[in-house]
Amino acid sequence: MAYPIVAYGHPVLRKIAKSIDKDYPNLNEIIENMKETMHEAPGVGLAAPQVNLSIRLIVMDAGLYKTDYPEVEGFNRVLINPRIVKEEGEEWEFNEACLSLPGLAEYVMRKPIITLKYQDENFDKHEEVIDGMAARIIQHEHDHLEGILFIDHVSSLKKVLLKNKLYDISTGEANAAYKMALPPIRKKKRLK
Ligand code: ZN
Repeated sequence: MAYPIVAYGHPVLRKIAKSIDKDYPNLNEIIENMKETMHEAPGVGLAAPQVNLSIRLIVMDAGLYKTDYPEVEGFNRVLINPRIVKEEGEEWEFNEACLSLPGLAEYVMRKPIITLKYQDENFDKHEEVIDGMAARIIQHEHDHLEGILFIDHVSSLKKVLLKNKLYDISTGEANAAYKMALPPIRKKKRLK
């Protein structure tokens, strides 16, 4: 069952997500549902906060980018409690987008090579050096676990220019091909 994807403006996207262990309830079901949500959207990665779960869990499948980046064919992972322990190389630019911000894309600079520690769906520990597009997807998704969005990496001037678009996304005016969960409406305080 695909989940609705949380839209920009929802407070869960700004929280620091919590680590999980084997006892986290319904974890296998959550992972399967997150994969389905990602594939249906479609997207190359999805972090749990985007489905309103503030936990350190990411699913990714870079296959969608294989035409332009053949090396990512078959690159998919379930990342539990991931930690980027090293980022290296000269920063490169890519036009990033995010399922929580439909209709937006901005150039973001990131380093090309990462060393990643994580646990897989069986809680087996891994350490991997990953580069290029797969690394970029993980950096973007890992940011979500820290309450960071790709637009936080663009200049403040650009962010001002995006203000109206961001407002539209948070109020459900932006078009998405998938179901979205909008932020709770802020209640206006009545003056006494
Ligand atoms: Zn995203």
